[in-house]
Amino acid sequence: MLMTNWITMHLSALAAAAALGVLWLAEGLYPVFAHRRPRWEYAARNVMLGLLNRGARAVFFPGALVMVATTTERMDAGLLRMVSLSAWVETVLGIILLDLARYAWHVASHHWPLLWRFHAVHHHDDAVDSTTAFRFHIGDVMVGSFVTLAVVGSLGLRVEHVLVYELLLMPLSIFRHGNIRLPGRVDGLMSWLIVTPRMHWLHHSRWIAETNSNYSPPFSLWDRVFGTFRVRSDAAGIRFGLDGYTDTDHTTLRGCLATPLRPIKSRPGHDTRLGVENRRSAPDAACLRSGAGRSLTACRPRS
Ligand SMILES: [Zn+2]
Ligand SMILES: [Zn+2]
Repeated sequence: MLMTNWITMHLSALAAAAALGVLWLAEGLYPVFAHRRPRWEYAARNVMLGLLNRGARAVFFPGALVMVATTTERMDAGLLRMVSLSAWVETVLGIILLDLARYAWHVASHHWPLLWRFHAVHHHDDAVDSTTAFRFHIGDVMVGSFVTLAVVGSLGLRVEHVLVYELLLMPLSIFRHGNIRLPGRVDGLMSWLIVTPRMHWLHHSRWIAETNSNYSPPFSLWDRVFGTFRVRSDAAGIRFGLDGYTDTDHTTLRGCLATPLRPIKSRPGHDTRLGVENRRSAPDAACLRSGAGRSLTACRPRS
């Protein structure tokens, strides 16, 4: 079991590295948003955060996962064990439920101040590309790992369910943060199954109505089910980042790590007042009146 766990963890690192290589190349050739310069420096900071998180998680997560899964199996506990399911159905159901839990936790991270302190690090950069998939605070990753363990324990999931899900998670996360444009029809079709870059850019928008949308990770189903799905036609006009955070907050490793200890400067879950800067990030008023955002309507950001 530990060997399978170890192999899959390395396989997931390999899949993430391959996805990053392909996206990095594509973003260099056909970027939608202008690159931050120097590009490598921006990428190095994000990847460094990712490596730090991976190292910290590797210390406890694989062992804790095996322990929780084998304990619930021995006790014959967990919701999924109450019904008789084939291995395939159980795996698919396990992945769907893990994804739902991740969606719920992501929504909570935007609405609970304590969780937002950590999650703000993923949002306060004013640029987005494939390396943003690595840009999380270590506290965010730790809480997320405990949420996964709680789901495994309460549903009675097996280690393999988590491993298969995590094998998909990182490459798809790198993909949805990509600074690349897919052909409209391909994007439209794909977004019925997984979150595409165009869909996820809105989640990184400075305008709070958009920051609080498109939470799904990585399957797009939940935003449609719970009414948090949003799309706009002028995606390239989105302004990324969060109001109130300075360059030092979001461009240095130290600033990123210290963010949860500092006062919250922008809280999308509750800050319903649109500040001057935030209003500038919104599409124009005509667009708002037409209820755009939920449909492909021509919306222009204010200049
Ligand atoms: Zn978020
Ligand atoms: Zn993101």
